[in-house]
Amino acid sequence: MADKFDVIVIGAGPGGYVAAIRAAQMGLKTACVEKWVNKEGKTVHGGTCLNVGCIPSKALLETSHKFVEARDHFAEIGIDLEAPKANVAKMLEFKNSVIAKNVGGISALFKANGVTALDGTGRVVGSKQVEVTGHDGEKSTFEADNIVIAAGSVPVEIPPTPLHEDIVVTSTGALEFTEVPKRLGVIGAGVIGLELGSVWSRLGAETVVLEAMDTFLPMVDTAIAKETQKLLKKQGLDIKLGARVTGSEIKGNEVTVKYSDKDGEQELTFDKLIVCVGRRPYTKGVVDESVGVGLDERGFIHVDDQCRTSVPGIYAIGDCVRGPMLAHKASEEGVMVADIIAGHKAEMNYDAIPSVIYTSPEVAWVGMNEQEAKAKGIEVKTGSFPFSANGRALANNAPEGMAKIIADAETDRILGVHIVSQHAGELIAQGVIAMEFGSSAEDLALTCYAHPSTSEAIHEAALAVDGHAIHMANRKKRK
Ligand code: FAD
Ligand code: AMP
Repeated sequence: MADKFDVIVIGAGPGGYVAAIRAAQMGLKTACVEKWVNKEGKTVHGGTCLNVGCIPSKALLETSHKFVEARDHFAEIGIDLEAPKANVAKMLEFKNSVIAKNVGGISALFKANGVTALDGTGRVVGSKQVEVTGHDGEKSTFEADNIVIAAGSVPVEIPPTPLHEDIVVTSTGALEFTEVPKRLGVIGAGVIGLELGSVWSRLGAETVVLEAMDTFLPMVDTAIAKETQKLLKKQGLDIKLGARVTGSEIKGNEVTVKYSDKDGEQELTFDKLIVCVGRRPYTKGVVDESVGVGLDERGFIHVDDQCRTSVPGIYAIGDCVRGPMLAHKASEEGVMVADIIAGHKAEMNYDAIPSVIYTSPEVAWVGMNEQEAKAKGIEVKTGSFPFSANGRALANNAPEGMAKIIADAETDRILGVHIVSQHAGELIAQGVIAMEFGSSAEDLALTCYAHPSTSEAIHEAALAVDGHAIHMANRKKRK
């Protein structure tokens, strides 16, 4: 038997690496097992998020956005350029350098905090035992008083569109296209499909997004979703709702996709197809059945509100358990679990987890949308404010979008904040903090905001809840 630890974490994504660092900060002897190796065969920390998820997608979203700004919008504000060209190879180089910096940062943090990095595949073989199979196949078993499973998730594949070389790919392949496809198909108008569709559409791909559901972004407030759909359409994204993909055929270097919609069977041919139909937990084989950790039929590990599995001392966090598949949700669960192991009382507020779609403009929300609140029988009052009436947004040449606040009609407590705008992903933090502090809409309305700032649109939306936005025609007289 090799070393004994207070905590062993399996997986070094944003769930696992944060749990490991926090546990070490709490004075616990901690190890973190990671199996991911880069093209050079070196173990890399950071999981999906840093290697093939949040960070690389945002690098390409930023570069492609800047390209569109230069190509289509600089002239509007008095900057004349020769027609700019997108250098895809350089963009990928930039994206890879961003990944390398982030990944290297985690390894440095492990060292600085005294987390032991174990390279290889971890498997829980007893309630206090983790077996690690190194990249050379050598097995070692480690003992731990507590085990945190943070094995993450992988893309869902669907039978109608089997992956094929670099033609039919998942989100991972879509971060590696070496040239802009002429015709791009995206299956799924979820967060990842819209982001990656945007990247390549901005760089010049004729992009069609096929979405089985009839409703666009059902988790977002209807008013914000409608506005988003309109803005993305204007940018050239052809989003076909009610279009269920049923088959595909590869012919040479292209793929023909069959789908059914209200008019019957249809087909379209693309040079590349990205399958973005969701992600599934990556838990196969991570726990030996004899240990007794319960999994559901889709592979999610059963946990309670504090991420405890059915076996005392074994926790599971992040994408491999219930809840939204988001990096910051995984990280917060990591902190909570480390604190619990260290003997503290810790819990998480699952009602105040923000979501962001990094399209342009960005879409961000926290809490309930209006339709959800009404379906729950909650009487609400709402306030909306358009960015076209916000001075800073106009000065930024980014007047698109709106902010909406949903508050309880009786108590005025904020139930949700939904935004589509430039930098909505930054603005939403105000909604999250307000909800964490149990604020009323009036609390935000009585707060002094810096001028000029796009945040003032949140202030105005809060004022509008009571019908008193300043920069908008008012409907109510103050009593
Ligand atoms: P992961 O990040 O998947 O990490 C799990 C780690 O565990 C991996 O490194 C894996 O190799 C390792 N592992 C698994 N099994 C074992 C084992 N047996 N032994 C050793 N190691 C193991 N989320 C956001 O919040 N914001 C975004 O903008 C965003 N953008 C995204 C864009 C894309 C294209 C994708 C694909 C995802 C995006 N996500 C985003 C989702 C986000 O990446 C995940 O929610 C997040 O990475 C989950 O963290 P995790 O730690 O649970 O799992
Ligand atoms: P998300 O889970 O947010 O990543 O979104 C995945 C999207 O893919 C969902 O909106 C699904 O409705 C959609 N989807 C799943 N299967 C299909 C299919 N066969 N054809 C078209 N869309 C699909």
